Amino acid sequence: MGVKVAKFGGSSLADAEHFRKVRDIVLSDPEICYVVPSAPGKRFKEDTKVTDMLYQCHRLVERDQSHEAVFQKIIERYMGIYEALGLDFDFYGLLLETGDQIRRQKNPDFAASRGEYLNGILLSHYLGWDFIDAQSVIKFDRQGVFASEWTNEIMGEALSNHERAIVPGFYGSYPNGDVHTFSRGGSDITGAIVARAAKADVYENWTDVSGFLMADPNIVENPKCIRELSYRELRELSYMGATVLHEDAIFPVHKAGIPTNIRNTNDPADPGTMIVPQVSKDRNSGQRITGIAGHKNFTLITIDKAMMNSEYGFGRRVLQALEDFGVSFEHMPTGIDTMSVVVSDKELLTRKDQIIQRIEQLCQPDTISVSTGIALIATVGHGMVSQPGSAATLFNALYEAGVNVRMIDQGSSEFNIIVGVHVDDFETAMRAIYKAFVKE
Ligand code: ASP
Repeated sequence: MGVKVAKFGGSSLADAEHFRKVRDIVLSDPEICYVVPSAPGKRFKEDTKVTDMLYQCHRLVERDQSHEAVFQKIIERYMGIYEALGLDFDFYGLLLETGDQIRRQKNPDFAASRGEYLNGILLSHYLGWDFIDAQSVIKFDRQGVFASEWTNEIMGEALSNHERAIVPGFYGSYPNGDVHTFSRGGSDITGAIVARAAKADVYENWTDVSGFLMADPNIVENPKCIRELSYRELRELSYMGATVLHEDAIFPVHKAGIPTNIRNTNDPADPGTMIVPQVSKDRNSGQRITGIAGHKNFTLITIDKAMMNSEYGFGRRVLQALEDFGVSFEHMPTGIDTMSVVVSDKELLTRKDQIIQRIEQLCQPDTISVSTGIALIATVGHGMVSQPGSAATLFNALYEAGVNVRMIDQGSSEFNIIVGVHVDDFETAMRAIYKAFVKE
Protein backbone atom coordinates (compact mmCIF):
# COMPACT_ATOMS: atom_id res chain seq x y z
CA MET A 1 0.00 0.00 0.00
CA GLY A 2 1.26 3.47 -0.85
CA VAL A 3 1.59 6.46 1.44
CA LYS A 4 -0.11 9.79 0.76
CA VAL A 5 0.17 13.10 2.56
CA ALA A 6 -2.91 15.32 2.25
CA LYS A 7 -2.81 19.03 2.93
CA PHE A 8 -6.12 20.85 3.28
CA GLY A 9 -6.26 24.60 2.68
CA GLY A 10 -8.14 27.17 4.74
CA SER A 11 -11.28 27.16 2.61
CA SER A 12 -11.38 23.35 2.94
CA LEU A 13 -11.50 23.68 6.74
CA ALA A 14 -13.50 26.88 7.13
CA ASP A 15 -16.49 25.34 8.92
CA ALA A 16 -17.96 22.08 10.26
CA GLU A 17 -19.46 21.14 6.91
CA HIS A 18 -16.00 21.24 5.35
CA PHE A 19 -14.51 19.26 8.25
CA ARG A 20 -17.04 16.53 7.39
CA LYS A 21 -15.99 16.59 3.73
CA VAL A 22 -12.36 16.35 4.80
CA ARG A 23 -13.09 13.38 7.03
CA ASP A 24 -14.92 11.59 4.20
CA ILE A 25 -11.98 12.17 1.87
CA VAL A 26 -9.38 11.06 4.40
CA LEU A 27 -11.22 7.99 5.66
CA SER A 28 -12.17 6.82 2.18
CA ASP A 29 -8.52 6.50 1.19
CA PRO A 30 -6.46 4.22 3.45
CA GLU A 31 -3.28 5.44 1.76
CA ILE A 32 -3.65 8.89 3.33
CA CYS A 33 -1.47 8.57 6.44
CA TYR A 34 -0.62 12.17 7.29
CA VAL A 35 -2.82 15.24 7.13
CA VAL A 36 -1.62 18.84 7.16
CA PRO A 37 -4.34 21.40 7.95
CA SER A 38 -4.39 25.16 7.38
CA ALA A 39 -6.24 27.54 9.70
CA PRO A 40 -9.96 28.13 9.00
CA GLY A 41 -10.23 30.35 5.93
CA LYS A 42 -13.09 32.41 4.54
CA ARG A 43 -16.59 30.90 4.61
CA PHE A 44 -17.90 33.58 2.25
CA LYS A 45 -16.38 36.48 0.31
CA GLU A 46 -16.54 39.12 3.05
CA ASP A 47 -15.48 36.73 5.82
CA THR A 48 -12.14 37.10 7.66
CA LYS A 49 -9.52 34.35 7.81
CA VAL A 50 -8.63 33.21 11.32
CA THR A 51 -4.94 33.90 10.52
CA ASP A 52 -5.79 37.53 9.78
CA MET A 53 -7.69 37.82 13.07
CA LEU A 54 -4.71 36.35 14.92
CA TYR A 55 -2.36 38.90 13.41
CA GLN A 56 -4.86 41.55 14.46
CA CYS A 57 -4.76 40.21 18.04
CA HIS A 58 -0.99 40.48 18.00
CA ARG A 59 -1.05 44.07 16.75
CA LEU A 60 -3.36 45.03 19.61
CA VAL A 61 -1.23 43.26 22.20
CA GLU A 62 1.87 44.96 20.84
CA ARG A 63 0.23 48.35 21.40
CA ASP A 64 -0.71 47.26 24.92
CA GLN A 65 -4.36 47.21 23.96
CA SER A 66 -6.83 44.47 24.77
CA HIS A 67 -7.18 41.74 22.14
CA GLU A 68 -10.14 40.18 23.92
CA ALA A 69 -12.92 41.33 21.58
CA VAL A 70 -11.10 40.02 18.50
CA PHE A 71 -10.02 36.83 20.24
CA GLN A 72 -13.62 36.26 21.28
CA LYS A 73 -14.55 36.08 17.58
CA ILE A 74 -11.85 33.46 17.09
CA ILE A 75 -13.24 31.47 20.03
CA GLU A 76 -16.71 31.64 18.49
CA ARG A 77 -15.46 30.36 15.14
CA TYR A 78 -13.63 27.41 16.64
CA MET A 79 -16.35 26.57 19.16
CA GLY A 80 -18.90 26.65 16.32
CA ILE A 81 -16.95 23.90 14.55
CA TYR A 82 -16.29 21.97 17.77
CA GLU A 83 -19.96 21.92 18.76
CA ALA A 84 -21.31 21.13 15.29
CA LEU A 85 -18.96 18.15 15.08
CA GLY A 86 -20.12 16.90 18.49
CA LEU A 87 -16.59 16.74 19.92
CA ASP A 88 -16.00 16.30 23.60
CA PHE A 89 -12.73 17.48 25.15
CA ASP A 90 -11.72 20.69 26.92
CA PHE A 91 -11.25 22.75 23.75
CA TYR A 92 -12.66 25.87 25.37
CA GLY A 93 -9.96 25.74 28.06
CA LEU A 94 -7.30 25.40 25.35
CA LEU A 95 -8.70 28.42 23.50
CA LEU A 96 -8.62 30.56 26.65
CA GLU A 97 -5.06 29.48 27.37
CA THR A 98 -4.06 30.30 23.78
CA GLY A 99 -5.49 33.81 24.07
CA ASP A 100 -3.44 34.27 27.17
CA GLN A 101 -0.24 32.96 25.55
CA ILE A 102 -0.69 35.38 22.62
CA ARG A 103 -0.88 38.23 25.13
CA ARG A 104 2.19 37.10 27.06
CA GLN A 105 4.45 36.00 24.16
CA LYS A 106 4.06 39.13 22.03
CA ASN A 107 5.39 37.15 19.05
CA PRO A 108 3.49 37.71 15.78
CA ASP A 109 4.56 34.32 14.45
CA PHE A 110 3.34 32.56 17.57
CA ALA A 111 -0.01 34.34 17.33
CA ALA A 112 -0.44 33.49 13.63
CA SER A 113 0.62 29.86 14.09
CA ARG A 114 -2.23 29.18 16.53
CA GLY A 115 -4.71 29.07 13.64
CA GLU A 116 -3.13 25.91 12.29
CA TYR A 117 -2.32 24.56 15.75
CA LEU A 118 -5.93 24.76 16.97
CA ASN A 119 -7.31 23.40 13.69
CA GLY A 120 -4.84 20.52 13.96
CA ILE A 121 -6.02 19.72 17.50
CA LEU A 122 -9.65 19.79 16.35
CA LEU A 123 -8.95 17.55 13.39
CA SER A 124 -6.93 15.06 15.41
CA HIS A 125 -9.86 14.62 17.82
CA TYR A 126 -12.34 14.44 14.97
CA LEU A 127 -10.39 11.77 13.08
CA GLY A 128 -9.05 10.08 16.20
CA TRP A 129 -5.50 10.49 14.88
CA ASP A 130 -2.27 11.44 16.68
CA PHE A 131 -1.15 15.07 16.74
CA ILE A 132 2.47 16.04 16.00
CA ASP A 133 3.23 19.66 16.86
CA ALA A 134 5.09 21.29 13.96
CA GLN A 135 6.99 23.39 16.49
CA SER A 136 9.14 20.38 17.36
CA VAL A 137 9.59 18.89 13.87
CA ILE A 138 9.99 21.85 11.49
CA LYS A 139 13.19 23.80 12.01
CA PHE A 140 14.52 27.17 10.91
CA ASP A 141 18.05 28.46 11.52
CA ARG A 142 18.69 31.51 13.67
CA GLN A 143 18.17 33.81 10.69
CA GLY A 144 14.79 32.25 10.01
CA VAL A 145 15.92 30.29 6.95
CA PHE A 146 14.20 26.93 6.68
CA ALA A 147 16.61 24.12 7.71
CA SER A 148 15.57 21.48 5.18
CA GLU A 149 17.93 18.62 6.00
CA TRP A 150 17.67 19.00 9.77
CA THR A 151 13.89 19.07 9.48
CA ASN A 152 13.83 16.09 7.16
CA GLU A 153 15.72 14.05 9.71
CA ILE A 154 13.63 14.89 12.76
CA MET A 155 10.35 14.91 10.86
CA GLY A 156 11.17 11.50 9.37
CA GLU A 157 11.89 10.11 12.80
CA ALA A 158 8.71 11.56 14.31
CA LEU A 159 6.54 10.21 11.48
CA SER A 160 8.02 6.74 11.85
CA ASN A 161 6.51 6.63 15.36
CA HIS A 162 2.98 7.42 14.12
CA GLU A 163 1.13 5.37 11.56
CA ARG A 164 -1.42 8.17 11.10
CA ALA A 165 -1.03 11.74 12.30
CA ILE A 166 -1.97 15.37 11.89
CA VAL A 167 0.87 17.89 11.45
CA PRO A 168 -0.38 21.50 11.44
CA GLY A 169 0.85 23.66 8.58
CA PHE A 170 2.56 27.06 8.33
CA TYR A 171 4.94 27.04 11.30
CA GLY A 172 7.97 25.50 12.96
CA SER A 173 10.60 26.85 15.30
CA TYR A 174 13.99 28.50 15.60
CA PRO A 175 16.84 26.46 17.15
CA ASN A 176 15.87 27.91 20.57
CA GLY A 177 12.32 26.56 20.17
CA ASP A 178 10.50 29.87 19.56
CA VAL A 179 7.77 29.61 16.96
CA HIS A 180 8.52 30.89 13.46
CA THR A 181 6.22 30.79 10.45
CA PHE A 182 6.72 30.48 6.71
CA SER A 183 5.37 33.30 4.56
CA ARG A 184 1.60 33.52 4.01
CA GLY A 185 0.10 30.46 2.40
CA GLY A 186 2.94 28.43 3.92
CA SER A 187 0.92 25.35 4.86
CA ASP A 188 1.57 24.19 1.30
CA ILE A 189 5.25 24.10 2.20
CA THR A 190 4.61 22.09 5.37
CA GLY A 191 2.63 19.56 3.32
CA ALA A 192 5.54 19.16 0.90
CA ILE A 193 8.02 18.78 3.76
CA VAL A 194 5.90 16.09 5.41
CA ALA A 195 5.53 14.31 2.05
CA ARG A 196 9.29 14.26 1.57
CA ALA A 197 9.99 13.04 5.11
CA ALA A 198 7.27 10.36 4.84
CA LYS A 199 8.74 9.26 1.46
CA ALA A 200 5.18 9.58 0.22
CA ASP A 201 4.06 8.31 -3.15
CA VAL A 202 1.86 11.36 -3.66
CA TYR A 203 1.44 14.75 -2.03
CA GLU A 204 -2.23 15.69 -2.27
CA ASN A 205 -2.96 19.38 -1.99
CA TRP A 206 -6.71 19.85 -1.40
CA THR A 207 -8.10 23.27 -2.16
CA ASP A 208 -11.27 24.87 -3.58
CA VAL A 209 -10.47 24.54 -7.29
CA SER A 210 -9.99 21.46 -9.43
CA GLY A 211 -6.38 22.23 -10.29
CA PHE A 212 -4.55 24.49 -12.68
CA LEU A 213 -6.25 26.01 -15.66
CA MET A 214 -4.46 26.53 -18.97
CA ALA A 215 -5.03 30.29 -18.72
CA ASP A 216 -6.49 32.89 -16.40
CA PRO A 217 -10.32 32.43 -16.51
CA ASN A 218 -10.75 36.19 -16.03
CA ILE A 219 -9.20 36.66 -19.45
CA VAL A 220 -9.80 33.49 -21.45
CA GLU A 221 -13.34 32.15 -21.42
CA ASN A 222 -13.64 28.67 -19.96
CA PRO A 223 -10.00 27.58 -20.18
CA LYS A 224 -9.29 23.86 -19.99
CA CYS A 225 -7.88 22.26 -16.90
CA ILE A 226 -4.28 21.06 -17.00
CA ARG A 227 -4.33 17.36 -16.15
CA GLU A 228 -0.58 16.93 -15.90
CA LEU A 229 2.35 19.31 -15.80
CA SER A 230 5.98 19.11 -14.78
CA TYR A 231 7.51 20.94 -11.83
CA ARG A 232 9.54 23.01 -14.29
CA GLU A 233 6.42 24.03 -16.20
CA LEU A 234 4.75 24.88 -12.91
CA ARG A 235 7.68 27.08 -11.96
CA GLU A 236 7.48 28.95 -15.27
CA LEU A 237 3.72 29.42 -15.02
CA SER A 238 3.72 30.50 -11.39
CA TYR A 239 6.58 32.90 -11.99
CA MET A 240 4.19 34.60 -14.39
CA GLY A 241 1.40 34.77 -11.88
CA ALA A 242 -0.55 31.51 -12.08
CA THR A 243 -1.10 30.76 -8.40
CA VAL A 244 -2.61 27.73 -6.76
CA LEU A 245 0.37 26.49 -4.79
CA HIS A 246 2.95 28.38 -2.70
CA GLU A 247 6.10 28.61 -4.80
CA ASP A 248 8.36 27.21 -2.08
CA ALA A 249 6.20 24.10 -1.82
CA ILE A 250 7.74 22.82 -5.02
CA PHE A 251 11.29 22.22 -3.80
CA PRO A 252 10.93 19.48 -1.15
CA VAL A 253 8.72 17.26 -3.31
CA HIS A 254 10.46 17.97 -6.59
CA LYS A 255 13.76 17.08 -5.00
CA ALA A 256 12.35 13.81 -3.70
CA GLY A 257 10.64 12.98 -7.02
CA ILE A 258 7.17 12.98 -5.42
CA PRO A 259 4.23 14.11 -7.56
CA THR A 260 1.83 16.74 -6.22
CA ASN A 261 -1.85 16.30 -6.93
CA ILE A 262 -4.02 19.44 -6.69
CA ARG A 263 -7.52 18.33 -5.69
CA ASN A 264 -10.87 19.99 -5.00
CA THR A 265 -12.39 19.29 -1.55
CA ASN A 266 -15.82 20.23 -2.92
CA ASP A 267 -15.48 17.86 -5.88
CA PRO A 268 -13.42 14.88 -4.72
CA ALA A 269 -14.31 12.82 -7.80
CA ASP A 270 -12.38 15.23 -10.02
CA PRO A 271 -8.82 13.92 -10.53
CA GLY A 272 -7.46 17.49 -10.43
CA THR A 273 -3.98 18.39 -11.68
CA MET A 274 -0.97 16.15 -11.31
CA ILE A 275 2.40 17.90 -11.04
CA VAL A 276 5.14 15.42 -11.86
CA PRO A 277 8.92 15.36 -12.16
CA GLN A 278 8.70 13.98 -15.72
CA VAL A 279 5.68 14.37 -17.97
CA SER A 280 4.19 11.40 -19.80
CA LYS A 281 3.94 11.44 -23.59
CA ASP A 282 0.18 11.28 -24.04
CA ARG A 283 -0.79 13.76 -21.32
CA ASN A 284 -3.29 16.60 -21.69
CA SER A 285 -4.92 14.93 -24.69
CA GLY A 286 -2.03 15.81 -26.95
CA GLN A 287 -2.16 19.60 -26.41
CA ARG A 288 1.09 21.16 -27.62
CA ILE A 289 1.23 23.72 -24.86
CA THR A 290 0.58 23.24 -21.16
CA GLY A 291 -0.46 26.73 -20.19
CA ILE A 292 -0.25 30.46 -20.75
CA ALA A 293 0.37 32.98 -18.02
CA GLY A 294 1.22 36.63 -18.01
CA HIS A 295 1.98 39.64 -15.94
CA LYS A 296 1.63 43.38 -16.47
CA ASN A 297 3.83 46.18 -15.18
CA PHE A 298 7.27 45.71 -16.66
CA THR A 299 9.67 48.25 -18.10
CA LEU A 300 12.06 47.67 -20.97
CA ILE A 301 15.36 49.54 -20.87
CA THR A 302 17.10 49.38 -24.24
CA ILE A 303 20.74 50.33 -24.61
CA ASP A 304 22.25 50.89 -28.07
CA LYS A 305 25.92 51.21 -28.86
CA ALA A 306 27.71 50.53 -32.13
CA MET A 307 30.12 47.60 -31.90
CA MET A 308 28.94 46.63 -28.42
CA ASN A 309 29.47 42.97 -29.28
CA SER A 310 33.23 43.42 -29.34
CA GLU A 311 33.44 45.48 -26.17
CA TYR A 312 34.60 43.43 -23.19
CA GLY A 313 32.40 43.51 -20.12
CA PHE A 314 29.59 45.57 -21.67
CA GLY A 315 26.81 43.32 -20.39
CA ARG A 316 28.40 43.11 -16.99
CA ARG A 317 28.47 46.90 -16.70
CA VAL A 318 24.79 47.20 -17.64
CA LEU A 319 23.89 44.70 -14.95
CA GLN A 320 26.30 46.36 -12.53
CA ALA A 321 24.19 49.52 -12.79
CA LEU A 322 21.12 47.56 -11.70
CA GLU A 323 23.01 45.78 -8.96
CA ASP A 324 24.30 49.06 -7.58
CA PHE A 325 20.71 50.00 -6.84
CA GLY A 326 19.66 46.57 -5.60
CA VAL A 327 17.43 45.94 -8.62
CA SER A 328 17.08 42.49 -10.17
CA PHE A 329 16.21 41.91 -13.81
CA GLU A 330 13.78 39.46 -15.37
CA HIS A 331 15.05 39.01 -18.92
CA MET A 332 17.81 40.28 -21.11
CA PRO A 333 17.10 40.03 -24.82
CA THR A 334 20.02 41.15 -26.96
CA GLY A 335 20.74 42.18 -30.55
CA ILE A 336 24.08 42.90 -32.26
CA ASP A 337 24.42 46.51 -31.17
CA THR A 338 21.59 46.56 -28.69
CA MET A 339 20.83 45.06 -25.36
CA SER A 340 17.61 45.33 -23.37
CA VAL A 341 16.80 44.53 -19.79
CA VAL A 342 13.30 43.84 -18.62
CA VAL A 343 12.68 44.98 -15.07
CA SER A 344 9.49 44.79 -13.07
CA ASP A 345 8.03 48.22 -12.24
CA LYS A 346 7.88 47.21 -8.60
CA GLU A 347 11.67 46.80 -8.58
CA LEU A 348 12.31 49.97 -10.50
CA LEU A 349 10.12 52.25 -8.39
CA THR A 350 11.75 55.62 -7.86
CA ARG A 351 15.22 54.50 -8.91
CA LYS A 352 14.67 54.63 -12.66
CA ASP A 353 16.47 57.93 -13.37
CA GLN A 354 19.42 57.07 -11.17
CA ILE A 355 19.83 53.71 -12.88
CA ILE A 356 19.75 55.27 -16.35
CA GLN A 357 22.39 57.75 -15.26
CA ARG A 358 24.54 54.95 -13.92
CA ILE A 359 24.24 52.97 -17.18
CA GLU A 360 25.27 56.11 -19.07
CA GLN A 361 28.28 56.55 -16.80
CA LEU A 362 29.40 52.93 -16.94
CA CYS A 363 28.64 52.06 -20.57
CA GLN A 364 28.66 55.31 -22.52
CA PRO A 365 26.00 54.07 -24.92
CA ASP A 366 24.84 55.83 -28.09
CA THR A 367 21.25 55.88 -26.84
CA ILE A 368 19.14 54.53 -24.01
CA SER A 369 15.39 54.28 -24.32
CA VAL A 370 12.87 53.34 -21.69
CA SER A 371 9.50 51.77 -22.57
CA THR A 372 7.04 51.49 -19.75
CA GLY A 373 3.72 49.63 -19.81
CA ILE A 374 5.09 46.30 -20.95
CA ALA A 375 3.25 43.06 -20.24
CA LEU A 376 4.98 39.70 -20.47
CA ILE A 377 3.24 36.54 -21.60
CA ALA A 378 4.76 33.09 -21.20
CA THR A 379 3.59 30.22 -23.37
CA VAL A 380 4.80 27.09 -21.66
CA GLY A 381 4.91 23.41 -22.56
CA HIS A 382 7.33 20.54 -23.03
CA GLY A 383 5.15 19.69 -26.02
CA MET A 384 6.75 22.59 -27.92
CA VAL A 385 10.27 21.18 -27.61
CA SER A 386 11.74 20.08 -30.95
CA GLN A 387 8.40 20.78 -32.64
CA PRO A 388 8.84 22.95 -35.70
CA GLY A 389 6.11 25.56 -35.98
CA SER A 390 5.48 26.44 -32.31
CA ALA A 391 6.96 29.90 -32.62
CA ALA A 392 5.24 30.34 -36.00
CA THR A 393 1.85 29.48 -34.47
CA LEU A 394 2.40 31.93 -31.64
CA PHE A 395 3.59 34.86 -33.73
CA ASN A 396 1.04 34.26 -36.43
CA ALA A 397 -1.70 34.37 -33.78
CA LEU A 398 -0.38 37.68 -32.49
CA TYR A 399 -0.04 39.06 -36.01
CA GLU A 400 -3.61 38.12 -36.86
CA ALA A 401 -4.86 39.70 -33.65
CA GLY A 402 -3.04 42.92 -34.56
CA VAL A 403 -0.68 42.73 -31.57
CA ASN A 404 2.77 44.23 -31.90
CA VAL A 405 5.50 42.19 -30.20
CA ARG A 406 7.95 44.39 -28.30
CA MET A 407 10.29 41.71 -27.05
CA ILE A 408 10.91 37.98 -27.54
CA ASP A 409 12.72 35.61 -25.22
CA GLN A 410 12.94 31.91 -25.75
CA GLY A 411 15.21 29.99 -23.42
CA SER A 412 17.21 27.32 -25.18
CA SER A 413 15.29 24.71 -23.20
CA GLU A 414 12.55 25.51 -25.75
CA PHE A 415 9.61 24.89 -23.45
CA ASN A 416 8.87 28.51 -22.72
CA ILE A 417 8.47 31.37 -25.17
CA ILE A 418 8.07 34.76 -23.54
CA VAL A 419 6.79 37.76 -25.46
CA GLY A 420 6.55 41.34 -24.29
CA VAL A 421 3.57 43.33 -25.56
CA HIS A 422 2.05 46.68 -24.70
CA VAL A 423 -0.28 46.40 -21.65
CA ASP A 424 -3.24 47.48 -23.75
CA ASP A 425 -2.71 44.39 -25.93
CA PHE A 426 -2.31 42.00 -22.99
CA GLU A 427 -5.77 40.43 -22.93
CA THR A 428 -6.07 40.27 -26.74
CA ALA A 429 -2.70 38.56 -26.96
CA MET A 430 -3.53 35.99 -24.25
CA ARG A 431 -6.80 35.04 -25.97
CA ALA A 432 -5.16 34.85 -29.40
CA ILE A 433 -2.38 32.55 -28.18
CA TYR A 434 -4.84 30.31 -26.34
CA LYS A 435 -7.08 30.01 -29.37
CA ALA A 436 -4.19 29.22 -31.69
CA PHE A 437 -2.76 26.43 -29.56
CA VAL A 438 -5.59 24.81 -27.65
CA LYS A 439 -7.67 22.22 -29.39
CA GLU A 440 -11.24 22.11 -28.15
N1 ASP B 1 -3.07 30.27 7.44
C1 ASP B 1 -1.92 30.78 6.79
C2 ASP B 1 -2.31 31.91 5.86
O1 ASP B 1 -3.46 32.33 5.84
C3 ASP B 1 -1.14 29.72 6.11
C4 ASP B 1 -1.89 28.91 5.08
O2 ASP B 1 -3.10 28.94 5.02
O3 ASP B 1 -1.25 28.25 4.29
O4 ASP B 1 -1.48 32.43 5.16
